Amino acid sequence: MVTTDFTPHLEKLFALRARLRGIMTQMEDGALNHDRSRTTSMPNHMAELGSSNFDQELTLSLLGSERNSLGKIEAAIMRIEEGSYGRCDTCGAKIPKARLEALPYAAQCVHCASEQESVLSAFDFQRETQHRVLPR
Ligand SMILES: [Zn+2]
Repeated sequence: MVTTDFTPHLEKLFALRARLRGIMTQMEDGALNHDRSRTTSMPNHMAELGSSNFDQELTLSLLGSERNSLGKIEAAIMRIEEGSYGRCDTCGAKIPKARLEALPYAAQCVHCASEQESVLSAFDFQRETQHRVLPR
């Protein structure tokens, strides 16, 4: 059966998209206003400047991953509309229901996703050495 009912997934994706958009707006506002409102009145001026720059950097790098997630969510919504949802983008295998429920914007089966993630994290590592963002 190709035409499974993905309405619950679609609803979840719409809710996630709305939430991410809200977070992104908040973070953008925070990152832009943070410096101006704080640095002028602080006695320990240099230290505060340093930490708020760090905060800003962190917020901006989070913002990058929110934007990335938003792209995945929108792609998943499109796949539901096209009828290709629930299949791995890379190998065409059916993505298990449990995975789609946990990760409604999953575009790949576990196997392909883990292969791609190791490539992506190698790429992130190169980029992040400049910013000194510590891995969690
Ligand atoms: Zn796959």
